[in-house]
Amino acid sequence: MTTRDEREGYLEAAGYNAFLLRAEHVLIDLLTDSGTGAMSANQWAAIMRGDESYAGARSYYNLVSVIDGIFGFKYVLPTHQGRAAERILFSIACKPGDVVPNNTHFDTTRANVEFVGAQAVDLPIPEGRSPGARHPFKGNMDTAALEALIEETGAERVPLVMLTITNNSGGGQPVSMQNVRDVRAICNRYKIPLYIDACRFAENCWFIREREEGYADKTPREIARELFSHADGCTMSAKKDGLVNIGGFLAGNDELLARQESRLLILTEGFPTYGGLAGRDLEAMAVGLEEVLSEDYLRYRIASTAYLGERLTEIGVPIVQPPGGHAIYIDAKELLPHIPPKAFPGQALVAELYLEGGIRAVEIGTAMFGSTDAETGEETVAAMELVRLAIPRRVYTQSHIDYVSEIVEDVFANRSRIRGLKMAWQAPPLRHFTARFEPAVSE
Ligand SMILES: *Cc1c(COP(=O)(O)O)cnc(C)c1O
Repeated sequence: MTTRDEREGYLEAAGYNAFLLRAEHVLIDLLTDSGTGAMSANQWAAIMRGDESYAGARSYYNLVSVIDGIFGFKYVLPTHQGRAAERILFSIACKPGDVVPNNTHFDTTRANVEFVGAQAVDLPIPEGRSPGARHPFKGNMDTAALEALIEETGAERVPLVMLTITNNSGGGQPVSMQNVRDVRAICNRYKIPLYIDACRFAENCWFIREREEGYADKTPREIARELFSHADGCTMSAKKDGLVNIGGFLAGNDELLARQESRLLILTEGFPTYGGLAGRDLEAMAVGLEEVLSEDYLRYRIASTAYLGERLTEIGVPIVQPPGGHAIYIDAKELLPHIPPKAFPGQALVAELYLEGGIRAVEIGTAMFGSTDAETGEETVAAMELVRLAIPRRVYTQSHIDYVSEIVEDVFANRSRIRGLKMAWQAPPLRHFTARFEPAVSE
């Protein structure tokens, strides 16, 4: 617990950037659902069984067998988290001038594509760009736009197509099985591999079961198996639907690619049977990947996220509709029309949520996806100004969430008083992690 006075001091010291606050100064931490879940008794027990052999550890083979049972890929490289898998994949698969289409790139995915000199292109369906528009699978890729992009670019310059499930930066919205099939068909026609950014695969599979015809009687595991059977490989941050605090992997079916990736893995992460993790981490991941497919867990997870979304909607707060899987996304552009995107309305709302109630959220807007022209100082703004309230897995109770909605209600009532910010210091790429802000002088 902190007082408002204390929070004012902490926020100013943190340059109005919630990433730079100390966690102990935060009451309810909705910064991210990544690595912030609570591990189960079974996961902690598995940690005790970790085999810490440098090479060929039993823990590695346990993990591979679990991944095979769900994802079905031939080659599995453990990595310390998702972005390590991304870096290895794009370093091997992409060259400068290439184009990588995705429904919506996550921030680290985009940064890793751009880091190797390729271009990251987002192709969500039109509903995916409009926070208020409802669609059961708002995370889908625009298949006509994909075809047009491949035709225009030339297939030889598109090394892979990616689908992010659920679509994190697009509001945690699911992708339908039909969309996966349609994208696969286009990839087949142009002989381009399809990769899945699988971070929230279980949540996505639950939405397919609930919303797509023909899946109501299938288990989440059966749906996952079908979904990944359409792909050539995946990157995974197990800090999400692996239910662990650290871990990830890169998987695929191409032997040559896997061999090249192993070499890079050895160079920067570790030997291919541990990939930068301890044997115990591999065990915890193996158990988490099974637990996350539990129907009772998934039903509760999706219902509890929707609960927060419904409360905020009742208050009148504009959110991305319908609620996604792991988070509620407030539309800061609509909530704070008096703050222009250049004055970071999302970042200003994040600051206000912290001041009002010690809640930490994250901006997904111009601070994250915009950029400042080095010469003119002109700000390129993002398509949407969202504030994400991410829900850690198996951590908060309904009364914590009720507190959150009460604080949002107070902020909403006084929204006309919220002021914009200006960026005082930045270090791209991924500038939002470390940028410092100041209150804008006047508007
Ligand atoms: C978290 C995330 C990543 C990156 O994973 P890290 O474990 O944070 O490196 C990639 N893609 C998506 C969709 C994510 O949510």
